[in-house]
Amino acid sequence: MAGLKRLRDGKIAGLYDLDKTLGRGHFAVVKLARHVFTGEKVAVKVIDKTKLDPVARGHLFQEVRCMKLVQHPNVVRLYEVIDTATKLYLILELGDGGDMYDCIMKHDGGLSEEVAKCYFAQIVHAISYCHRLHVVHRDLKPENVVFFEKQGIVKLTDFGFSNRFQPGKTLNTSCGSLAYSAPEILLGDEYDAPAVDIWSLGVILFMLVCGQPPFQEANDSETLTMIMDCKYNVPSHISSACRDLIGRMLQRDPKRRATLEEIEGHDWLKGVDPSPATKMSTPLVSHRSLSEEEHGSIIQRMVLGGIADRDNITEDCLLIPLLCCDFVFQKLCNCLNLSS
Ligand code: ATP
Repeated sequence: MAGLKRLRDGKIAGLYDLDKTLGRGHFAVVKLARHVFTGEKVAVKVIDKTKLDPVARGHLFQEVRCMKLVQHPNVVRLYEVIDTATKLYLILELGDGGDMYDCIMKHDGGLSEEVAKCYFAQIVHAISYCHRLHVVHRDLKPENVVFFEKQGIVKLTDFGFSNRFQPGKTLNTSCGSLAYSAPEILLGDEYDAPAVDIWSLGVILFMLVCGQPPFQEANDSETLTMIMDCKYNVPSHISSACRDLIGRMLQRDPKRRATLEEIEGHDWLKGVDPSPATKMSTPLVSHRSLSEEEHGSIIQRMVLGGIADRDNITEDCLLIPLLCCDFVFQKLCNCLNLSS
């Protein structure tokens, strides 16, 4: 994969201390980790490459490609990729508040509409940005929305099924989880890529305000039937505006489904700030570049500190790209007693 750092197995241990498990998926385990040198906390998605078939490898490639492409306050940042003989490590921005599925499960009967609309508007904002870049997520579900409590926002993650699309052209790969998948995906039809994300947004909104999925029967074949018939019950306490918005997204016919512009302009979301994240002052990327002298001094101190030998640092080391981040740069300078 282009742009990856290739390291020998075990070297990750020298760069990041892996800590507790934050979550698990089908292909990966996500761990809390701390950068050895700066103490910066990150989430590390560890993927065992030996367990991947060629299709899953393709999805992994797309995940890296799409996550590098999308840079938005409501999308988890992919900082770095470490490739070893058997594992791939995605170094991700750390969500400190768990995922949305766990949050929904803690709220019997769903979240209040006021709270739900704040989160939902941010997810819509992120997807609208992705679609403008012609990236479709295709696996939108509450497990793939992570809370950033300190920033007071939510961010989308897991672009493992994401892909680039050409407007007006259809895709045909079947992906996602049954309960969240659009009917046309389950039928194996060619499909209009953005519309499948809209369906999943409908499922997410339903879950946020009702506390359970709209289509969840005793077994998969019954669930499938309910999805195909687009049959679901909205509890009576849900407001008519919210009910209407859910109904605009959960449309059996993709052509009749709401567009993102319609969702963003819907009455239920009136007055909600979709981008509280953009008011965050911490820059994600700095344009400050290191002088030769600073660069040399940092490498020398890393060698003296026993991080690695000079060749390994300059060829492979992750610290150099990380220096692009202001916050990390400041911390590193403090660690090394350098003036920034
Ligand atoms: P899937 O089976 O859906 O394809 P996956 O193997 O691709 O999953 P992810 O969905 O990326 O794995 O991550 C699994 C879980 O790890 C998430 O549901 C979430 O709880 C947690 N997680 C993922 N990314 C982060 C992050 N950046 N910060 C904190 N927790 C995270």
